Amino acid sequence: MTADRYGPDFEDLMSTVEFRVSEQAHITVDTEVCRSCTTRACLHACPAKLFVPTADGGILFNYEQCFECGTCYLVCDADGAITWSYPEGGHGVVFRTG
Ligand code: SF4
Ligand code: SF4
Repeated sequence: MTADRYGPDFEDLMSTVEFRVSEQAHITVDTEVCRSCTTRACLHACPAKLFVPTADGGILFNYEQCFECGTCYLVCDADGAITWSYPEGGHGVVFRTG
């Protein structure tokens, strides 16, 4: 694993995890709320880079490779933009130890 003063790079981070994807999204994003958002904090805060701006001012979000860190929910201050829960049992991120 490589690291610099900003910590491990993204590819290294992703190589240490696997995702047991549930068919049911544990996070949903109301892109209509996002259209009036001025901070777009999620774009910079999500360590898995799962929030992507669209050309029409919305947000494209994919839950499949979520680290379940909760950061997006903390930094988003728009009511109703993000609905967050943990994945159902047996699903979600698995961190490898070796
Ligand atoms: S999820 Fe929250 S922070 Fe991100 S664009 Fe939407 S309203 Fe803004
Ligand atoms: S919980 Fe963490 S990894 Fe998952 S979408 Fe939110 S910020 Fe990204």
